Amino acid sequence: MTSPIRVSRRGGDRWTQGHPWIYASDLLNEADGPGLVAVADQRGKPLGTALYSPRSEIRLRLLERDPTVVIDTTWWRRRLEQALARRVGLDTNAYRVVHGEGDGLPSLIIDRYDQWVVAQLLSAGLETERENIVTAIEAVLAPKGILLRNDVGVRRREGLAEGIELVRGSVPDAIEVREGTVRYLAAPWTGQKTGAFLDQRENRLRAGRLMPPGGRGLDCFSYHGSFALHMATRAGSVIALDVSQDALRRAADNAALNGFTNLACREADAFDALREFDRARQRFDVVVVDPPAFAKSKAALPQAIRGYKDVNLHALRLVEPGGWLLSASCSFHLRWPDFLTMLADAARDSGRRVTMVEHLTQPADHAEVLTIPETGYLKAAVLRVD
Ligand code: SAH
Repeated sequence: MTSPIRVSRRGGDRWTQGHPWIYASDLLNEADGPGLVAVADQRGKPLGTALYSPRSEIRLRLLERDPTVVIDTTWWRRRLEQALARRVGLDTNAYRVVHGEGDGLPSLIIDRYDQWVVAQLLSAGLETERENIVTAIEAVLAPKGILLRNDVGVRRREGLAEGIELVRGSVPDAIEVREGTVRYLAAPWTGQKTGAFLDQRENRLRAGRLMPPGGRGLDCFSYHGSFALHMATRAGSVIALDVSQDALRRAADNAALNGFTNLACREADAFDALREFDRARQRFDVVVVDPPAFAKSKAALPQAIRGYKDVNLHALRLVEPGGWLLSASCSFHLRWPDFLTMLADAARDSGRRVTMVEHLTQPADHAEVLTIPETGYLKAAVLRVD
């Protein structure tokens, strides 16, 4: 470790107030390169140990408050064990074991898919701890293989290479995931995120319960049939709609895996398809809209809100009176008040009477820490449409 990095009072205050990031502008000196650094206040009083990223505006990410504690494999193993203990009792074989800042391990994502692990190292400081982390994963989770899905843009901003790397054992192309009574195949090597959207697990189960026996369902932005599969457990018919042919090919495989013959795939742009369904007077008992993050930055928010409103307005028009819309947004920059205002605007323009029945969010394995707003991003609503 190089000599301590000293930070301004504003920087130090962020940590005392429960946030692990200190920005470049609050550093009084810099380290020689990425990695673990001791951090001290202006006067030299030790504040703890952090990950240092020389190229990132987020220069320091707090790992350990106790300056006397050494960060080694044992430390990582203990932190992983603690994270795992917080997940006891989840009724699935695929879940997030470490949700970065939400688990006190900034820029680290670890997802377990049955007997395999898919992880992401998302900062230059963290990358220097790779061997310790991989060793700790082996010790705590004993997987048959560990895959790093480091093919994400944020790594470039950290000055790191992007890529997919098998670092231990072997990991298959498809892993069967159990989610309630439904089974689906996650794609760790080629799928989005680490192979599936684990964060919508409980909301998908909710969508299944909304479906009346024999009813009609529409799952827009379906990816590999995710919400549609749960609706298909009860529905007469369900449409899984996505713009990606590859995702829909896997949706069809997933329908077959469950023995569903009531699930049809439709490759289309949701913005057009929702309008076409309306023109064709098609109606559904349950509609799900789970678009990709339209707001990638704060600046993109106004445009994103227009997109969300358009999708929700046209989705509301397709719901049978007395039916349901489950609407989600995974844009961090679209906060709850904006989300609710957008839904209200869509409701007003739809001319329907729309009742908020339930606020849904991300599950506990994607821990949202209140003093770290960036750990929370998923919002969803169950709306009754009369
Ligand atoms: N509901 C899914 C996750 C959806 S992710 C789940 O629970 O697993 C968003 C999906 O929207 C991706 O599969 C992407 O291919 C699709 N998509 C993006 N733009 C689209 C558009 N304009 N029309 C339809 N699908 C779109």
